[in-house]
Amino acid sequence: MSHPSDGKRMTVLFSEERIRERVAELGRQIRADLGSDEEITLLCILKGSFIFAADLARAISGPVAVEFLGVQSYGDATQSSGHVQITHDLTNPIEGKHVLLVEDIIDTGLTIAYLVQSLLARSPASLRVCALFEKPTEEQKVRADYVGFQLGDEFVVGYGLDWAQRFRNLPYVAAIETD
Ligand code: 5GP
Repeated sequence: MSHPSDGKRMTVLFSEERIRERVAELGRQIRADLGSDEEITLLCILKGSFIFAADLARAISGPVAVEFLGVQSYGDATQSSGHVQITHDLTNPIEGKHVLLVEDIIDTGLTIAYLVQSLLARSPASLRVCALFEKPTEEQKVRADYVGFQLGDEFVVGYGLDWAQRFRNLPYVAAIETD
């Protein structure tokens, strides 16, 4: 399916239903891995993972706490530079907690590598990474423990993901022509 949107050509890659099914599977797997009684602190990386984290939180049964970490990475609109600035810090300590970092996309892995390193310094009981998407970059520094879907090298928007702050509200994920 192709959608012309504001002059940008878009192709739907992941429908609402497909995302919903995969998120439900991830939730079950995460709960099974951590055990039924353990509290899981979902750490939502803003802004890109806000919708994914909201759905994932509801897909994990049992005790779940939610924290938000705002990050901004410097680069152009479609490329990460690996220079990450924390724009909104956690409001509660994660020391001794089982933390699940919820990220939208791992591309080069520079963003997640920086976050893992700085969060490990806060002594969580465990730190796992769940990414909705992973791009097949060879030099990736950190691999996620849980991945929703593998992507190619297309730039995607929707379900929380933006292009120049737009399209986050699309309920599906689409590839967008960026030039
Ligand atoms: P990395 O540091 O792993 O190279 O880049 C990860 C970040 O780049 C993601 O958290 C996301 O913000 C952004 N990013 C990478 N690929 C895409 C994409 O296809 N679409 C959107 N909207 N953001 C992307």
